[in-house]
Amino acid sequence: METQIIRIREEDIPSPKMEALGQIIRNGGLVAFPTETVYGLGGDALNPESSKKIYAAKGRPSDNPLIVHIADLNDLEKLVKNIPDTAGRLADKFWPGPLTMIMEKSDIVPTETTGGLSTVAVRFPSHKVARDLIKASGGYIAAPSANLSGKPSPTLAKYVCEDLTGRVDAIIDGGDIPIGLESTIVDLTGDKPMILRPGYITEEMLKEVLGEVLTDPTILDANCKDRPKAPGMRYRHYAPKGDLVIYEGPSETVIAKINEDVKAASDQGRKTGVIATAETAGRYSADSIKCIGSRENEEEIAASLYRILREFDDEDVEEIFSEGFSDSGLGRAIMNRLLKAAGHKTKNLWEEA
Ligand code: AMP
Ligand code: MG
Repeated sequence: METQIIRIREEDIPSPKMEALGQIIRNGGLVAFPTETVYGLGGDALNPESSKKIYAAKGRPSDNPLIVHIADLNDLEKLVKNIPDTAGRLADKFWPGPLTMIMEKSDIVPTETTGGLSTVAVRFPSHKVARDLIKASGGYIAAPSANLSGKPSPTLAKYVCEDLTGRVDAIIDGGDIPIGLESTIVDLTGDKPMILRPGYITEEMLKEVLGEVLTDPTILDANCKDRPKAPGMRYRHYAPKGDLVIYEGPSETVIAKINEDVKAASDQGRKTGVIATAETAGRYSADSIKCIGSRENEEEIAASLYRILREFDDEDVEEIFSEGFSDSGLGRAIMNRLLKAAGHKTKNLWEEA
């Protein structure tokens, strides 16, 4: 398949190129596009054939449901059986934006889109390019992240092109992505709202609107034996090619231990990389040292994480050593993705301190 690569930035909206891109989706084709969280791989959410194509293009297991993206709050009614009062309140506060809500699906949403489930995940993104594409394509775009299954989600167009050229009809190069981590997912179908995936909209922010909000216990405790409630969270995700280990403990202890382990890996001829912060980057020696941002600025850390994991892949780094981050606020989403990327391999240095 030939893939057109078309540059449209938020400042180009409204764009004369959008009509033709929308037509591709209306005709059952696939278009990758920027959103404020990560790049998405979009097809018509109401067309079961489009959803099948999305799974095939990504190499994604078909029991891992897609998120349906809308660009008009009135369109929510068509997708869900009834809109819970909680959804209305969250939409008022956080839509358009990086929040996905799970509700009971209506009959028009094919089970191909929902991975066989009777519920549907819905998001109203804020990115102008995403919103105009959704409008041009009929209002309902099913889109997972625009990476091959198992790779880190793309936050730069070049990584979408690397993964999906030849697999989709078009890729919109919308430049760099502001948030860089996938949306927060909250399930509104149970007795109490429950966070199934942490993201930019934090537990604290949701509690301000809803009062009580639960978090899927498998997010809080890696050793929890329950199955994650979001099917996608069951898969190994966000993985770099190299072996990644996270070091948690007092800063000085972490720096010393990482340097010691880097040296041991180097001595065995392995190519090494370190994920450091602005505060510590000068303290390491390794083949590749990446500064993920300042500990004072978690948004910067979130926005850099996937790019850095991809860069290590580009450099064929074999052993990656990362500092750990706090588990509160946005840190929870950062640590959730980093732990998944590491296959939950951590070294706890608190006791040794
Ligand atoms: P991605 O599009 O790659 O960000 O993945 C979408 C995420 O949303 C996956 O983790 C899915 O498991 C989750 N998801 C989508 N629909 C549902 C649903 N109906 N119930 C629970 N989780 C869902
Ligand atoms: Mg994904």
